[in-house]
Amino acid sequence: MFKAFLIKYGEIGIKGKNRHLFEDALIHQIKYALKPVEGEFLITKEQGRIYIEALGEYDYQEALESLQHVFGIVGICPVALVEEEGFDQLAEDVIAYLDNHYADKNKTFKVNTRRARKSYPLSSMEVNAALGERILKAIPEMKVDVHQPEIMVNVEIRRKINIYSEIIPGPGGMPVGTNGKGMLLLSGGIDSPVAGYMIAKRGVKIDAVYFHAPPYTSERAKQKVVDLAKIVAKYSGPIYLKVVNFTDIQMYIYEKCPHEELTIIMRRYMMRIAEHFARETNSLGLITGESIGQVASQTMQSLAATDEVCELPVYRPLIGFDKQEIIGVSEKIGTYETSILPYEDCCTIFVAKHPVTKPSLKVIRRSETHLKEKIDEMVKTAIETAETIIVEADMAE
Ligand code: ATP
Ligand code: MG
Repeated sequence: MFKAFLIKYGEIGIKGKNRHLFEDALIHQIKYALKPVEGEFLITKEQGRIYIEALGEYDYQEALESLQHVFGIVGICPVALVEEEGFDQLAEDVIAYLDNHYADKNKTFKVNTRRARKSYPLSSMEVNAALGERILKAIPEMKVDVHQPEIMVNVEIRRKINIYSEIIPGPGGMPVGTNGKGMLLLSGGIDSPVAGYMIAKRGVKIDAVYFHAPPYTSERAKQKVVDLAKIVAKYSGPIYLKVVNFTDIQMYIYEKCPHEELTIIMRRYMMRIAEHFARETNSLGLITGESIGQVASQTMQSLAATDEVCELPVYRPLIGFDKQEIIGVSEKIGTYETSILPYEDCCTIFVAKHPVTKPSLKVIRRSETHLKEKIDEMVKTAIETAETIIVEADMAE
């Protein structure tokens, strides 16, 4: 079994002083991802490479799976690290590597040597040729194919010699923590967890806010949101989730405003409250799962009306996605099954039969004046009574 992984990360890692930030954040996220995995790991960085070495027994599959959730990782290579003790020893090590890892030897291969340590006495080409020859002699079933080999035998001559043939894709993106923090409006639907995932993928740390409307929305609906946050947290790291009791505000809007404007006005209050929390916790923007035209509250006019109440930028990473594309991502990241559980959501309970699709700002603002008597107090109470849940990923699930 492999005792180490070589982690490949994006080109961005190479640039100037950002490189250290990038690498440190990546190592931080790798540690977080490996925390629940059985085994002990030593993580080191060296010449634009990150190595994860297992100290003793560990769960290979679990480790691999955890690493596949770490943004910034482009490739995960199970690697054999061997000391440099002359070419004969290297040839033996490479042959032992192939022998151990390929039960079926009837395969084509190519040796691809990189000499990061220039003091090594042979050139890359010489190592390629000499190793190829030794492999052919030791394992006669194997054949050379320099164009489309089934096994690319990578040999990198560094402080230790790295031997690997498999590059398992990572999720790409940038390590969380390299690009500030954002406040996700997280509902129990399909879209917002995907939106959170996409922004976190760009290196943004995620906080979240959920608007809960008991008794119209049940404890189970809230649990569903926590469960979704847990899945997103596998990628983003822990999420501070604010649960806001939105019932009184919603009822008050229902009582005072035209019903066809309900959704828009409600969304405007959600944005206002989310922005308050965002500022309080140094988030640099709000994140929603909206996409143009998906529902009445997501037409260009409706989005403009929602946008108007916040000063912070609102990031809508799904803006140009079709529903089917969003579902595709949610299946890939593992939120879909939870999102489609049939618990009610506060927007569907108070929804009007014929919501406005082209709200005029003037009209909406006028309707909101009907709320002036109590709304400020209600918003204040909603903010003060919000519950904070620290949601940690549950890797075992
Ligand atoms: P989703 O699948 O994310 O629920 P949706 O298609 O149901 O989205 P809407 O209900 O119009 O769309 O909500 C649009 C966006 O507003 C959501 O993606 C989410 O970011 C935010 N949102 C809606 N309801 C809530 C809520 N109860 N709590 C927090 N955010 C919400
Ligand atoms: Mg929704």
